[in-house]
Amino acid sequence: MSDITAIEVTTADTHKVNLLGLSEAKLVAFFESLGEKRFRAAQVLKWIHQLGVDNFDDMTNISKALREQLKARAEIVAPEVLQQMDSADGTRKFLIRVAGGDVVETVFIPEGERGTLCVSSQIGCSLDCSFCATGKQGFNRDLTAAEIIGQVWIAAKSFGQCVPGGARKVTNVVLMGMGEPLLNFDNVVDAMNLMMHDNAYGISKRRVTLSTSGVVPALDRLSQYTDACLAISLHAPNDALRNELVPINKKYPIAMLLDSAKRYIAALPDTHRKITIEYTLIDQVNDRPEHARQLAELLRDVPVKINLIPFNPFKLSNYKQVSNNALRRFQDILMQEGYITTVRTTRGDDIDAACGQLAGQVNDLTRRAERYRRQALEPQPIRIVGH
Ligand code: SAH
Ligand code: SF4
Repeated sequence: MSDITAIEVTTADTHKVNLLGLSEAKLVAFFESLGEKRFRAAQVLKWIHQLGVDNFDDMTNISKALREQLKARAEIVAPEVLQQMDSADGTRKFLIRVAGGDVVETVFIPEGERGTLCVSSQIGCSLDCSFCATGKQGFNRDLTAAEIIGQVWIAAKSFGQCVPGGARKVTNVVLMGMGEPLLNFDNVVDAMNLMMHDNAYGISKRRVTLSTSGVVPALDRLSQYTDACLAISLHAPNDALRNELVPINKKYPIAMLLDSAKRYIAALPDTHRKITIEYTLIDQVNDRPEHARQLAELLRDVPVKINLIPFNPFKLSNYKQVSNNALRRFQDILMQEGYITTVRTTRGDDIDAACGQLAGQVNDLTRRAERYRRQALEPQPIRIVGH
């Protein structure tokens, strides 16, 4: 759906085009610039994303002469896997080093027939939500499209998804790792459309979800570029509380955000789509019965399902985990009001893979992490980023 056709050069040291992150439209433009036919793009998409190939010599339906040309002009480079960790519950976590040395994490969570991959879109995040470990890290840079889709490529390969007959394990992708996807719009859109493209991963549009804290101008443009699912990180039923938890709310308050989300859903060709409302429950902050009732009232005319996320404490945060009683009471009120309300369970605890537990190293260019550390009573090494 994207109409962006400029070709990006993602590997600074070689000046070759990294084909891994190119959308179909960009790959077509690339082959046309070589005087080749459009169908080469489909062939190469399949080699890279369906068969996990990163070596042009393996592309046997492409002539030797073209392969040589490709080797001179292009490359297929995924970020480097530093470590892969498997939890007793089947959760798999990848520590991935991207160009510049930062480490991001990608988590695979199996649940019955479903396998959900939680993907990062930026190194750190500039939006500084008060309960979020990534926000406390500050922001370094956007991930390239190759680094975003590279996380899917790496996970798919690790499950043998790329070998003929290999089990298809990544059935769903959520952009809920590090970063605010709508602040890295073009790269996220290209990567999402590769996730859903039939010649790439072929994941249904109902199984790819972008999560945003509410960058309204970007959300207003989104339906022109993709028809993936949408999750809104709401976390509060009124502006006063949301301003405290999610500072971008001061710029784009709740009513504006929900209107924009409704327009996104309405613009999609298929009906019956619901917006997922993410609500991280924090003890004594946003977990009271009146918050649940206010939320029910607020969402009355919005097609939603609600996902409650128990806050995962991390070092340097004073917030506490919601009590079981408050969680159940909150869920009960919403269900009585007629909302589909699920609770996100903590997975991969033994490998620190739950929301708010992911570890990595970020070279924070805003120095926010350093300031934050200085303020803390006991200085801690920077180690927690992502969810
Ligand atoms: N920036 C985007 C996507 C990444 S955040 C967004 O905010 O939507 C993905 C989800 O993890 C968000 O809903 C966020 O609120 C939640 N999250 C962040 N820190 C958390 C924590 N410590 N415990 C539980 N959930 C957390
Ligand atoms: Fe950024 Fe999302 Fe964390 Fe807020 S919750 S700081 S938007 S990653």
